[in-house]
Amino acid sequence: MTNFSVIRKHEIHCGHRVYGHSGKCQFLHGHSYVFHLHCTSNALNDLGMVVDFGIIKSTICQWLEDNYDHHMLLWEQDPYAKEIAKIDNSVVIVSYNPTAENIANHILNVVAPSLLKDTPIKLSKVVLEETSKCTATCELD
Ligand SMILES: [Zn+2]
Repeated sequence: MTNFSVIRKHEIHCGHRVYGHSGKCQFLHGHSYVFHLHCTSNALNDLGMVVDFGIIKSTICQWLEDNYDHHMLLWEQDPYAKEIAKIDNSVVIVSYNPTAENIANHILNVVAPSLLKDTPIKLSKVVLEETSKCTATCELD
């Protein structure tokens, strides 16, 4: 079988903190997150594509722009979350501790399946650069 993949890159800027971390990640800080969105298929469409890059842009990239870009991601179990949300509407309270691994997992397994359900696209892997040195990957089996 032949497998094809395409990768759409998208950068956003977010604040977060890792609740429970004993080092400096416990503090409020931010990153320029670079998402590498991998879509795969074992067949190409009539135009010879896995997917039109524009569809990835208008679905997942747009969701990231609308929901996370220039926002502060805080875990619902983080005591800061509700307090900071009272004074700053940039806070997005998420259901997971916002590590790069958990953000990638949320996009892969929650956001993408919902956004792409009426499209032929399957997001198969998210590689998330938190810094130029540190990357997390989440991939479907
Ligand atoms: Zn961080």
